[in-house]
Amino acid sequence: MAKQEDSFKKIVSHAKEYGFVFPSSDIYDGLGAVYDYGQLGVEMKNNIKRYWWESMTLLHENIVGIDSAIFMHPTIWKASGHVDAFNDPLIDNRDSKKRYRADVLIEDEMAKFDDKIEKEVAKAAKRFGESFDAELFKSTNPRVQEIAQKREELHTRFAKAMNDNDLAELKQIILDYEIVDPISGTKNWTDVRQFNLMFKTEMGSTSEGAMNVYLRPETAQGIFVNFLNVQKTGRMRIPFGIAQIGKAFRNEIVARQFIFRMREFEQMEMQFFVRPGEELDWFAKWKETRLKWHKALGMGDHKYRYHDHDKLAHYANAATDIEFEMPFGFKEVEGIHSRTNFDLSQHEKYSGKKIQYFDPEMNQSYTPYVIETSIGVDRMFLSVLCSSYEEEKLENGETRVVLHLPKQLAPVKVAVMPLVRKDGLPDKAREIMNMLKFDYACQYDEKDSIGKRYRRQDAIGTPFCVTVDHQTLEDNTVTIRHRDSMAQERISISELAGIIDSEVSLKNLLKSLV
Ligand code: ATP
Repeated sequence: MAKQEDSFKKIVSHAKEYGFVFPSSDIYDGLGAVYDYGQLGVEMKNNIKRYWWESMTLLHENIVGIDSAIFMHPTIWKASGHVDAFNDPLIDNRDSKKRYRADVLIEDEMAKFDDKIEKEVAKAAKRFGESFDAELFKSTNPRVQEIAQKREELHTRFAKAMNDNDLAELKQIILDYEIVDPISGTKNWTDVRQFNLMFKTEMGSTSEGAMNVYLRPETAQGIFVNFLNVQKTGRMRIPFGIAQIGKAFRNEIVARQFIFRMREFEQMEMQFFVRPGEELDWFAKWKETRLKWHKALGMGDHKYRYHDHDKLAHYANAATDIEFEMPFGFKEVEGIHSRTNFDLSQHEKYSGKKIQYFDPEMNQSYTPYVIETSIGVDRMFLSVLCSSYEEEKLENGETRVVLHLPKQLAPVKVAVMPLVRKDGLPDKAREIMNMLKFDYACQYDEKDSIGKRYRRQDAIGTPFCVTVDHQTLEDNTVTIRHRDSMAQERISISELAGIIDSEVSLKNLLKSLV
């Protein structure tokens, strides 16, 4: 664990050192759980958003996008249930004075059982060698079975307490399992209380006083309240979806782990409207579609898993998370929820407007059911960063720090470098830049030795370096260097665009999804 924490710290400082992510208000010592994206971070974030947006809107004729306002009528949050129920159970440790989410403390305790099982499996794998069957071992080994049973007991108790909103029982679990504060090491806990995560502010300055409004805690409601507008003006027929990317705000209790849990973050959400009764089929379909989207980036299929929810939100009849293996364990990156007709019905009730769809094939009106896919841009960004970072030991004994970013997401695609800063090589390099810059984010670099320049590009994940030397002036060939293999090839300038394009183009990535 210490090793993983250490590697996570390195990733965080790398992100700052190279202009990916800075703490917000840095010169004022930062602001809790708020971050700014730097010059490279914003490019990579935009690439992630483009990949998501185009996979939704270009690949599906029946999905359109919107961009709704952050401020919305306050009754929307009453209707959606956020005013009354968007709470997390919090608990304080009296000694450290630190605040925690009670559910997260218990989930961490469950993860310890999982770690124990994995350790037993790893030990046995070493003992038995190649013939080892991990699944068979897990289902038959008495020690593993015993740990699994203890985990299941905790899990059942926890799921029930969460479902019943039983705060006293959550505290009792923490006491019974002797969960200690990681900072003070004590069990001196307060009672568990509910805490509403919405930020409130005031709008307007009329004589009757200002109106209380909220900063939206999710983008989804902006889609629901525009359902009729989009359906009618776009002449959309069910099934169809509405996609949106935008900021969301939550006053998170525990805001650690860098950009994993922020108070201001960005979501990419798509609400897919379907016929009542067909929602679970669509839920299964979107589960699969979304996982495929993640895996297509090539970060390693084994790094993903589904986590089906024990505690369904009040509006859902099925829900799963896509989890990614971060340095601090498998964590939710995306949620897929079957939200029934809850949201549209609630808005019908609270707004007094009829929100129904007339289905010409069925010749009847109904309130559509909804499947939601909801992914955090920042968590996606973090998963990309964490899985890409490597301190690679080279054959010559040196270490290079390299980001093996999915090439389509890399902030800079090509670095163009004259071998030396004279003899007309910079001019030739500029010429190549000017040829490539309309299609790819390029960087020109002529400072320091070529080795140092390669390292700088490795550290920011640039897939290709193109070096211009004296031979270039004679025969219009350059050296292209590949980031991951460090292999170098001599090719003619006219081949450059084709080689680069085949690996960095979003188009090819999107094609792999259909
Ligand atoms: P968690 O259980 O981690 O708090 P959640 O289940 O409340 O997350 P959802 O409401 O399903 O999250 O939000 C959908 C997605 O938005 C999440 O999968 C995550 O990627 C992102 N997200 C939610 N809260 C945050 C946050 N505080 N910071 C960054 N991303 C977030």
